[in-house]
Amino acid sequence: MLNHDKQTNSIKSLSMDFDELEKKDAKDILSWSMKKFSPKIAFASSFGAEDVVVIDLMVQIDKKNTRIFTLDTGRLNPETYEVMDRIQKKYQIPIETLFPDHLEVEKMVYENGINLMYQSVSNRKLCCEIRKVHPLKRILGTLDAWVTGLRRDQTFTRANTKKIEIDSSNNDIVKINPLADWTNDMVWDYIKQNGLPYNKLHDAGYPSIGCAPCTRAILSGDDLRSGRWWWENDLHKECGLHWTKK
Ligand code: SF4
Repeated sequence: MLNHDKQTNSIKSLSMDFDELEKKDAKDILSWSMKKFSPKIAFASSFGAEDVVVIDLMVQIDKKNTRIFTLDTGRLNPETYEVMDRIQKKYQIPIETLFPDHLEVEKMVYENGINLMYQSVSNRKLCCEIRKVHPLKRILGTLDAWVTGLRRDQTFTRANTKKIEIDSSNNDIVKINPLADWTNDMVWDYIKQNGLPYNKLHDAGYPSIGCAPCTRAILSGDDLRSGRWWWENDLHKECGLHWTKK
């Protein structure tokens, strides 16, 4: 992690680049980021459609410095493990897999049951916190920058996503969203044109894929994130990975 003085300086110097970088395309953004932050930059992948595009771009730019991590919550779909395995074999790169703390999971399940997420929003958030957010914080604490597959038109909570941001929820490290201005069609055109492996659940009506108990297929025309935590009424549905301190 950057120390405070260095970090402040770094952010100041970065701030001069923000507007210019915003005009650049995904490959240039990634190229700039990997040059600037490697080896302390990694891509947070859940192996969704956007993620396979980002991985492909990073490998093209600099395979040696392509770092990918994933959060294995213990509740993922078999199809997610299948595409993860295919990606690893195709690119011959290691995938840093982070698991939740087993003592935290054991206590949570003992006290609330295995499917606590359906009982209340607070229990759902507790599960996300323990299975996703804590492992994420563990790795982000070692990085100067992280890359995501966020796109502005995925949901209104992501509409203001910038290509390069300071992540105020995570020690002000740099957050890079190279596909921020991509559309869903652009993502799928890239996947098809380049023959990339992708999660088979996308063919079954899942545009957004998370944990098995909390994701379901949607109907054509529905909000792309509406299959996540569908039993909750709150429209601001995120798991905590991309919440920003206000
Ligand atoms: S998405 Fe569901 S199963 Fe996964 S961590 Fe969150 S509440 Fe738990």
